Amino acid sequence: MDAATFLFLSAYKRVFSIMDKKKRPPIVTILGHVDHGKTTLLEYLLAHYTDQFKGTITGKEAGGITQKVRSFEITYKNQCMTFIDTPGHEAFAQLRQRGAQIADIGILIIAAEEGMRPQTKESLEFLQAQNMPFIIALNKVDKATAQPDKVRQELMEKGIMIEGLGGDIPVIEISAKTGQGVENLLEMIVLLSDLHAFADTVEHGSEGYILESIKDPKKGVVAYAVIQGGCLKTGDYIITATSCGKIKHLEDSFFNNLTSVCASKPISLSGFESLPASGEIFKTSSLDITKKIQQELGQRQHAFQNRYIIPEGNPEEGINVIIKADHIGSLEALEHIFQRIANECNVHIKILKADLGAITFEDTKFVKNTDSIIIAFNVKNDKSVVDEMRNSDITLLEGNIIYEIEDRLREIATKKVQKSQVAQLQVLGVFSSSASKKTIGGRVTKGVLSKNNRIRIVRADQEIGKGKIIELQKDKVAVSEVSEGSLCGLVIETHATIEKEDIIEALS
Ligand code: GDP
Repeated sequence: MDAATFLFLSAYKRVFSIMDKKKRPPIVTILGHVDHGKTTLLEYLLAHYTDQFKGTITGKEAGGITQKVRSFEITYKNQCMTFIDTPGHEAFAQLRQRGAQIADIGILIIAAEEGMRPQTKESLEFLQAQNMPFIIALNKVDKATAQPDKVRQELMEKGIMIEGLGGDIPVIEISAKTGQGVENLLEMIVLLSDLHAFADTVEHGSEGYILESIKDPKKGVVAYAVIQGGCLKTGDYIITATSCGKIKHLEDSFFNNLTSVCASKPISLSGFESLPASGEIFKTSSLDITKKIQQELGQRQHAFQNRYIIPEGNPEEGINVIIKADHIGSLEALEHIFQRIANECNVHIKILKADLGAITFEDTKFVKNTDSIIIAFNVKNDKSVVDEMRNSDITLLEGNIIYEIEDRLREIATKKVQKSQVAQLQVLGVFSSSASKKTIGGRVTKGVLSKNNRIRIVRADQEIGKGKIIELQKDKVAVSEVSEGSLCGLVIETHATIEKEDIIEALS
């Protein structure tokens, strides 16, 4: 061997060893329509390919474990790979909103007896939007009713360029129940990992993604996370955009204690001071920076108290709100929504209090004293506190889907504005008339009309009489209020004659 070849080979070896050192196992996620076999596949992998459980548990036992474990590492032919279960629908949507590319490879599972279903399409859109390499697993091929070729055809018709039919998206036939084809699927994961050479590019400390976080009564805040690069150790300072802390405990996905853990591993860690959000990036940090972030987070949270959200117009009406949320990111998301509603409905919204965590009895008192509504976003509330709120007629908007909270708040704001206007109804027909009572039908053109409203009757801009609404019906059902845009029937106590096209105006 001459010197040049020797030098070239040693340089090649060195580069190769660096590359090799930085290579990390792939992080895989399984997506697909409900009942197409996602859980069964995870259970099969857990029972057959984990160091912890291989050969020691049945699929049935694995079922119990996957409910708790959700993300784990398997070993196939000495190669590690991490499977992460996409958390519940809402968290998944949050991850999507944040554009978090947590997984390296997706498996789109489709039951070969059913073909593409709505969530298959949704999952496909997600994978394509993320530009994530993926494999299509046609599942349940052990069943006589399975028609994998028909599903291939359907995929092609939908423009999914699959392997064997002119495209390059791999399609593997499997049975998550019997294990048929699962090795082929794992081979394909290895192949894709080699092709994409997923690398640990973190030079200092460690980084990763938060999958979800919970408040454990004993351990405090526990975050489930997956490491993207570097090595994480107990005692490390750790930050996200909405939380920070110092790692007290690290566990692998099977609840074994760890002191340090490296790229691609799924872990749980405790030590965060508040719940970090799903999909957030975490990074290790120094004591100084963590302290600064702690301070800044405190200020950011404090900035929500007594905050006026003013619309662009000139509002006459306003709503007082109190927010309880899981983390600062949620408070900030709610603030955006408030601004949108304030502009759309021309109301001002005053945030009297914004706090992290569940609603307390103190909050109930505060809400009552300030005539506020309370929004509890993504927090687990004590049933007794919620019952107390309901019994006290407090408006509580509770949930973990931000758009639902937005819709309900918009409804409240719209009603508030309508109520403040002088309600008007245009008479569309007069059904019966006695000396003192008139039964009519009409449409509320402005505001909210209420039973027992005193009214005046207007014809050609002239008041022709006064009266009182003694009965109000919407869709033939007695109601106490009818809001703008709705048709209704009403009985009015009046001695005046009412005619079609007259205007009934509520007196304030
Ligand atoms: P998920 O909602 O996608 O997690 O679906 P599951 O894993 O819960 O599966 C739904 C149903 O399909 C269960 O009754 C499974 O036992 C069954 N199933 C899943 N995979 C297979 C398979 O490969 N073959 C057969 N015969 N049944 C399967």
